[in-house]
This record gives sequence, C-alpha cells and structure tokens, in this order.
Amino acid sequence: MALVNENFLELPQENVFASIRGEVEKFKVIRPSNNLIDLSVNDVIHSLGTHVAESMRLAVDEMAHTETFHGYGPEQGYVFLREAIIKNDFNSRGIHLTPEEIFVNDGIKSEIGNIGEILGTDNAVGVADPIYPIYVESNVVSGRAGVFRGGHWSNVNYLECVESNGFVPQPPNRPVDVVYLCSPNNPTGMVFSKSSLKKWVDYALKNNTLILFDATYEAYIQSPGIPHSIYEIRGAKKVAIELRSFSRTAGFTGLRCGYTVIPNELQVQTLDGRSISMNSLWNYRQRIRFNGVSYVTQCAAAAIYTSEGKMEVRKAIDYYMKNVMMMRRELSNTGIRLFGGEHVPYLWLRIPHQHSAWEYFRMMLYGAHVVCTPGIAFGPNGEGYVRLSAFAGRADCEEAVARLKEWF
Ligand code: PLP
Repeated sequence: MALVNENFLELPQENVFASIRGEVEKFKVIRPSNNLIDLSVNDVIHSLGTHVAESMRLAVDEMAHTETFHGYGPEQGYVFLREAIIKNDFNSRGIHLTPEEIFVNDGIKSEIGNIGEILGTDNAVGVADPIYPIYVESNVVSGRAGVFRGGHWSNVNYLECVESNGFVPQPPNRPVDVVYLCSPNNPTGMVFSKSSLKKWVDYALKNNTLILFDATYEAYIQSPGIPHSIYEIRGAKKVAIELRSFSRTAGFTGLRCGYTVIPNELQVQTLDGRSISMNSLWNYRQRIRFNGVSYVTQCAAAAIYTSEGKMEVRKAIDYYMKNVMMMRRELSNTGIRLFGGEHVPYLWLRIPHQHSAWEYFRMMLYGAHVVCTPGIAFGPNGEGYVRLSAFAGRADCEEAVARLKEWF
C-alpha cells in the first residue's frame, strides 16, 4: 500500500488565491455586465524586452544546429550567467562572491521548498509575518510547521510585522534555527535599513541561525542607502542564503529563472555538533536532483545584464512604480491608512471599521468592482489589511483609483 506524505493533508483544502478566483467567478455570474479591475494579480503584464527576447531567439538558433547545440548544462548554471550576476548584482555593491557560490534556479517558489529538503525537520522556524505564503506552506509539507490551530501553525514563530514596529520584524528573545525574511517585503512594502538588518545578522551569528533572505523585489528599491543584498551587512556570509528572481525584474514569471547565493563561509550543524558546508551540501543535492535551467533561458537571463537589457528592465520597473506612486498619491487623502508603494509595486491598506479582510474584499468587489487580495493570504498579521497590486496597465490603475475614491 502506498502511503502519502500526510503533511500535505494538513494544508487548508482551499488556498486563499483559489478562493479569490472563486469569488470573482461568482461575481461575474451575478453581475455579468460589470467591468472588473483585478488588482489582486501577482504577475507582470509586460512582455520580455526586445533585446532579451532576441538573445533568446539566437540561443534557439544555436540549439537548432548540431555544431552549436547545448545538451545537459552544468547543474549550477552556465558560468557566463553566474559571472554576469556577480559582476552586476554584487561587485557593483562592494560584495565579492565566486561563481561557485551562485546556483541558477528555475524560480524562487520551487527553490524555497527545495532548500527545505536539506534542513532537518526539527528546526524551529521563524517567518516575518505577513510574508509571501510559500515560506510557511513549504514548511508545512516538510513537517516543520506543526498543527494549524486558530489561524496559526503551532511550530512556526511568527515575527510580527505591524504598524507599531513599521512592519519591520524584530529578532525574538529566544533562539530560532531558520528564519525567513523578505526585503522589500511582499505585501507590506517594508524595507530593512542597514541597521535593522544588522540586528538580524548579529542575532543569527549569536544563535547559529540560518537566514533565508528573499530579495525578489530589490530592483524596485527607490532610495539610496537601503540594502539590496543581505551581504552588504558584515558577517552575513556566515549566516545567510539569498534568493533572487528574474520574475519581477525582467518579466520572467513565465520563463522561470532566478538564483540562489550560498556563500562558502556558511556552515550548518549536524545533531552531533559537526559543521557542514551548506554550499557543498546544496551542490550535492543539486547534482542528484536537478539538471539545470535550459540554455535558452540562461541566455535570456544573461541578456538582462547588457546595457540594452538593463534599460529594458529599468523601463518596466519604472512603469509599475509609477502606477503604484500614482495610486498612493491619489488614495492618500481618502482617510484610508496606506503603506507600501515606495519600494514595491504594492499598496497595503488598513481596513477601516473592524471588517475582516475577507469581508472587505467582498465589499470592494461588489462596491467598487475592484479585486484586491485579503491580507490574511500572507499570514495572521495580514488580517485587517488588503493588498492592491500595481502590476497592471496604467488605465486600469487610474480607473481603479477613481472607483475606490468614490467608494471609500
Ligand atoms: N518571493 C516573493 C516575495 C514573491 O512575491 C514571489 C512571487 O510573487 C516569489 C518569491 C516567487 O518568485 P518566482 O517567480 O521566482 O518563483
């Protein structure tokens, strides 16, 4: 008899994003003629840049000829891409890494769960809350989260990100083994300053904590002085893995490519106290589990780092940031408390009058015909908030803002 991994059965049957789709479908049946604007969308809307697409096309041509064909590539990624990553994303910020410390992946969503595979099930886990939900869910299925009671997983340490602490998670006063942080944060828009991030690195050095730092939105940072990488903090290479994705920077949501940084200095422990190199362990895991990202995709990713590619990336990011800044400006005098929208293309809205996030979602849907994401999708501290995404066309953002202003 085949037995299942019962941890999967622990997850709530219907996830929030599926419920949103269900509510929207219901709305369309009840009000067929109403023109909905969907700002719950978590996907980019712009195509790949022309230069990136052209590089990909050239790579496809190479694949079509025996002399230039590429079969299995290195599991860790082609050196041309890893070197471009180091030069542009790290050396430019005074961070030195070697290609052996970069692992090209097929996006962060899968990578988050994959990394969990080489971590013991007994680790105490901490997550900034609210945060991208996959961090908690990947720990649920690997048996680290405990049981779901009263909206919380019993073994997860929720690191409260609330208005009173500026949505900045604070190190707890007890040791936690693995901590997930994200800056700029989806959904709140919080960014770590160097000093608030240093507190985490110091905490991790003191407690032998492993930090998984999600920098998916780093290219959206608008002000100087805000760390783009955790390795801008001294000592971080000893305690942190950094995850980066090309999804939000270059529209790779459908193409699938990102990378993971695992510094050589990072050590993890065995139960009997031996130190193991995380980089070697991950390398080993990749060798037996992964055959690399396609050559064509990696050529497209490398094209992002050319001067034309950089201009295309900047143009797309500016577009989404202009959307969100306009939304923030227009909604700021409506009496609704607004957060985010400075370094991420999301607005985080405080719900007035004690409505739950789901109630408010439905009120907005039926009242303004605008779809938002209930904050509870991102963790218990998301209750009382909704998120509006600016990954949409300018005209839709303008129309949504006009409707919301009237509706508020
Ligand atoms: N990390 C954060 C914070 C995200 O918001 C998302 C997507 O919404 C991801 C990771 C997923 O990235 P990828 O497309 O590389 O899987």
